[in-house]
Amino acid sequence: MTCPKCGSENVTVQMVTETQLKEKKHGVIWWLCVGWWWVPCKWLVFTLPALIAAIFKPKGYKTKSIHKTMAVCNNCGKSWRV
Ligand SMILES: [Zn+2]
Repeated sequence: MTCPKCGSENVTVQMVTETQLKEKKHGVIWWLCVGWWWVPCKWLVFTLPALIAAIFKPKGYKTKSIHKTMAVCNNCGKSWRV
């Protein structure tokens, strides 16, 4: 593998694991218009069955992790996604 910046072949490739949060943060306007009814509805529709399922299946929890392969040039220090 060669560096796209300087053309050096002194490149280290490494695996990077990122853990992402499933919930997005919302603003004040979202909470005033949608959040006050959407969150209890979502809780009833999704969380309650998930909690019931979690009682019967304790391995029901999932964490979303993304594996990325990153290459780092040892010559100029440039890093990029492979
Ligand atoms: Zn380079």
